[in-house]
Amino acid sequence: MERVADGVWLLQGDLRKSMNVYFIEDGDGVVQFDAGSKAMTKKVRAAGEQLGGLKRIVLGHAHADHRGTAPGLDAPVFCHADDVVDAESNDSIAPYMDLSQLPVAPVRWIYPFLLRRWDGGAVKIAGTVAEDDEVAGFRVIHFPGHAPGLIGLWRERDRVALVSDVVYLVDSARLKALPEGEASVPHPAWAWDHAKAKESVRKLAALEPRVVGAGHAEPLRGENLRETLERAADKY
Ligand SMILES: [Zn+2]
Repeated sequence: MERVADGVWLLQGDLRKSMNVYFIEDGDGVVQFDAGSKAMTKKVRAAGEQLGGLKRIVLGHAHADHRGTAPGLDAPVFCHADDVVDAESNDSIAPYMDLSQLPVAPVRWIYPFLLRRWDGGAVKIAGTVAEDDEVAGFRVIHFPGHAPGLIGLWRERDRVALVSDVVYLVDSARLKALPEGEASVPHPAWAWDHAKAKESVRKLAALEPRVVGAGHAEPLRGENLRETLERAADKY
């Protein structure tokens, strides 16, 4: 586990350590933000125990690779109201995803298989969180677009943003890395509403974060990431 900010831990797992799960210290235990893929369940459980015990899980959104460990852990699961239906669905592919938009044929073919392999199945949602709610010293921010109920967590005092898939730090349409220090709005193939996804990247940019911990790859760091993120909004 890597300490990415005061009281914030990152666990990376699955193939090529491409999936991120965050733990935020909260009193005598931790809150888990995002739930990665099913294959990470044992490691996530051990990490939660090591950090004093898992109090609750908050999903950044309901996609298969962000809810994977949730059904296998003994903690109540929360998400934004607009992602409850997808979180509680048995489907590994959200109804609005259009994989036919992916430009590279082998990537297009492999994703249905990957999404099913990453998925832990339907999640029982115990409650919802909304914009401005407090989660372990962070403020919930709604970033709809990539998913309708996509949320991030923002902490003003050290300008740390944990953002799930508001931005990608990898090229998901080609399954390869982005150049160091670059970010991108997720490919429209995944989007519930791509125009809103771009707006949400600009909403994140306007916060002027210093650390952006996304759902995949190492956190992005800089004195002020506003420009990088504004460029990211225009990638697709
Ligand atoms: Zn996603």
